[in-house]
Amino acid sequence: ETAANMPIRNICCIGAGYVGGPTAAVIALHNPHVRVTVVDRDQNRIDAWKGRHLPIHEPGLVDVVRLARDGSSERRASGDQGQAASMDGASAALVGIVQPARTPNLFFSTACVETIAQADICLISVNTPTKVRGVGKGRATDMAAFEGACRDVATYAKAGTILVEKSTVPCKTGQLIKDIMEAHRPGVVFPVLSNPEFLSEGTAVRDLMQPDRVVIGCESTISGHRAAAALVNLYAAWVPRSRIAPINIWSSELSKLAANAMLAQRISSINSISAICERTGADVSEIARSLGMDPRIGPQFLKAGLGFGGSCFRKDIASLTYLSESLGLPEVAAYWQQVLEMNNFQRDRFARHVIATLNNSLRGKKITILGYAFKKNTGDARESPALDVIRLLLEEGPRSISIYDPLCSEADIKRELAVLEADYSVCKPDGPVEVVSDPYLACADSNAVLVLTDWDMFKNTKPAAAPSKPIATLESYDGTTPNDILHITSLMEQLPPNQPPTP
Ligand code: NAD
Repeated sequence: ETAANMPIRNICCIGAGYVGGPTAAVIALHNPHVRVTVVDRDQNRIDAWKGRHLPIHEPGLVDVVRLARDGSSERRASGDQGQAASMDGASAALVGIVQPARTPNLFFSTACVETIAQADICLISVNTPTKVRGVGKGRATDMAAFEGACRDVATYAKAGTILVEKSTVPCKTGQLIKDIMEAHRPGVVFPVLSNPEFLSEGTAVRDLMQPDRVVIGCESTISGHRAAAALVNLYAAWVPRSRIAPINIWSSELSKLAANAMLAQRISSINSISAICERTGADVSEIARSLGMDPRIGPQFLKAGLGFGGSCFRKDIASLTYLSESLGLPEVAAYWQQVLEMNNFQRDRFARHVIATLNNSLRGKKITILGYAFKKNTGDARESPALDVIRLLLEEGPRSISIYDPLCSEADIKRELAVLEADYSVCKPDGPVEVVSDPYLACADSNAVLVLTDWDMFKNTKPAAAPSKPIATLESYDGTTPNDILHITSLMEQLPPNQPPTP
């Protein structure tokens, strides 16, 4: 029969990224008798998960990982990861409940084969980026890593191991998995579940500890239902049953793409209104407030700005358009494509506004960019709106572009900027861009300061007696922003000397 008849003792999570690491840690925390091992091919990432400096920054994550991995949440003295300040209610409460000590049940390893061989459940949470070449280039999902992980499971797992799609995948991927399993192990039952992850970076621990919903998609077979029941039981250790929704597997797969598309669509919708504001003198924040008071619309995701970034929204909508087209629905594809077009238009509009404000030339001028992360409270530099803004600014040949972000590492930012190298010399010494670790240095001699991530530390930097404001900020950019230039002096007044605030 199936593994669902067995108690779940061993979980293998394939992929130790933004989803795999935190998800596995929270499952382990709440299921102390289950051994949870996160595997990844990336030795550096695994070493970081095992060490004191986790590879990703999320409020509260250090505490959860310490409890599950080390059996204690005790913070070592100085030099620690400095996330105490950002510890949220969920993990603060948690430190109090799981005492005094517990047996460690969260492990990180590069031993994929051995871990898969022992697993009762394999969660697949590898990256599923957009294809960069070949058929569907720029839109279709690149399933290479996902298929590779499935093949590993097909080759090494014991019969009956439950496969769980945690990665965001196109609708009908469950069938692909079944085909791979059947080709490798004909006649052996491997139940397949879809359990998409809805966490947001920056609030991952809170989202995992108190999810709005846990969607579990299964096939309508006996083994499918048994497998779903096993996964439901793991979640039920901390999630109220009313929030766990067992549904059809195809619905579950599509629900993730649909959720991201709907959220992104709201951002593009309000940004389209902000463009009209720019021409008319209406104020988009007043409009957003009024819209949000309508209970049918609601107040979330109505902030005009530079548009959405990050590793998910763009790629998931691209995947949805490709899926629609391949299903013979070009009208549906065109509808969602517009959400992406509006996002690009917004960045373009913003950069043009900056350039126009600086007399249509950046020659000999220095631009400062405060904030590179695609949103606050994350160190994730992937697909940041800042990249598109920088690309457009570089076309005007600025003397210097100085970037400061409180959490994104210089290496991560430079890795992202490398895609621009084909067209420009980007980073110093050959190009104008530098990443600096001090906001004062970043702002020195600057002609314009652009706040591109809504970090609280920038929001609180309100010029007190300053004569001017930032020329264009994520907060205020709605087309009605006055064409003021923030001089270094006005920013300097806000920051205590030589003590840049920590995130
Ligand atoms: P990530 O790139 O941070 O992590 C993926 C990891 O998988 C990498 O460390 C990579 O080395 C590893 N990997 C790839 N193939 C492997 C293999 N065969 N064996 C072992 N390890 C392998 O990605 P992420 O941001 O965690 O996203 C993972 C999935 O979750 C994606 O499908 C994404 O769309 C989805 N998702 C992401 C978020 C988010 O906020 N980042 C939220 C919800 C869903």
